[in-house]
Amino acid sequence: MISLDEARQYVLDRVVRLPVVTVPLADAAGLVLAADAMAAEQVPPFDNTAMDGFAVRAADTVGAPLVLEMIGTVAAGAAFDRECGAGQAVRIMTGAPMPLGADAVVMVERTALDEAAESVEIEIEVPVGNHVRTAGEDVQPGDLLFPAGTQLTAGHLGVLASVGFQVVNVVRRPRVGVVSTGDELVDDGRALEPGEIRDSNRRTLLALVAEAGWDAVDLGIAVDEKADIEASFVEGAASCDAVLSSGGVSMGAFDYVKVVLDEIGDMRWMQIAIKPAKPFAFGLIGETPMFGLPGNPVSSMVSFELMAKPALRKMAGEADLGPRVVRATSVDSLGHSADGKTHFLRVEGEQDSYGRWTVRRAGGQGSHQLTAMARADALAMVPDGSAMAPGDEVDIIVLR
Ligand code: AMP
Ligand code: MG
Repeated sequence: MISLDEARQYVLDRVVRLPVVTVPLADAAGLVLAADAMAAEQVPPFDNTAMDGFAVRAADTVGAPLVLEMIGTVAAGAAFDRECGAGQAVRIMTGAPMPLGADAVVMVERTALDEAAESVEIEIEVPVGNHVRTAGEDVQPGDLLFPAGTQLTAGHLGVLASVGFQVVNVVRRPRVGVVSTGDELVDDGRALEPGEIRDSNRRTLLALVAEAGWDAVDLGIAVDEKADIEASFVEGAASCDAVLSSGGVSMGAFDYVKVVLDEIGDMRWMQIAIKPAKPFAFGLIGETPMFGLPGNPVSSMVSFELMAKPALRKMAGEADLGPRVVRATSVDSLGHSADGKTHFLRVEGEQDSYGRWTVRRAGGQGSHQLTAMARADALAMVPDGSAMAPGDEVDIIVLR
């Protein structure tokens, strides 16, 4: 057996970032910046008002209440070509540019306009800069907005739009093929014949890929025949950036997965010192990364989280490869007798208002018992041979 760290490093060393593509900002949500995003413009682009009110010279408000001459109105999107002189005020709407000469805004609620007299009563004294948003106070030209590796969320896209980005250079969204292998698998809803089971791994793996923001490609079921397995792996490798197969990586007698992969790919067959998800294979078919995940439903999901997902994140250009480990307190005892493996137990839990997790076992911990995985909020990492008592702290990987 090899350690989880060694296995993961082996995989990470053999995958590379996907090519860079230029996409419209409208299509960039969830994609990852391929290069640092620099600002070419300042934000705000000009001095403007944060309030509806009257633009004035702050010095003119000393001794308020007092009356100023009202010389015009400026709305957002308009320009005001006259100067606001001493003793004068300009009616102004939120977002409108500050008139020349004015250096403060009195909010409308603290004024009384006399339209007939073309004057306004100012009720309060205001300092220079009052309610003024200064040009460039949020972003300066040349600022580093976000570094390469940033996964673009709503806020990032808003900032990029605010400085005039129409398109952005990102790493291509990975296309990830998913194939199930095994003669026992049924996926069309018909009654099961003796020995058959329903294919659940493809549903979970396709969904895990989609949840991560990648394109999931359904490659179907390959039965335990050499030709069928080879055809679907070859097709997957040709049409996708990576392929996830489940089943056939342990030591079964009818597993052609190993035979085929050793023929068409450059594979390493691993036994990782973890439970579940001990058997795992990784290699390249041509240039395409191939992940051989174990067949047991819980194992295939855990194997995806621990092994495939960090590698796919690297391919997607992400800076943070995860999985992120946080500390939790366990209500249950989570210990196990020494077997040389780190155990990943399915746990449910909640965070208190300070973000601290409390977790408990999510149900049956067999690697075929998918219901506990479905209920689980996290995987608890229990070191080999540790006797964790109720109330002890444990590292967890949060799943959602
Ligand atoms: P294998 O690794 O192919 O020997 O499979 C290990 C166990 O996982 C067996 O009990 C299989 O029936 C089961 N299994 C394999 N593939 C799937 C799948 N796609 N969905 C559900 N169970 C599966
Ligand atoms: Mg099988």
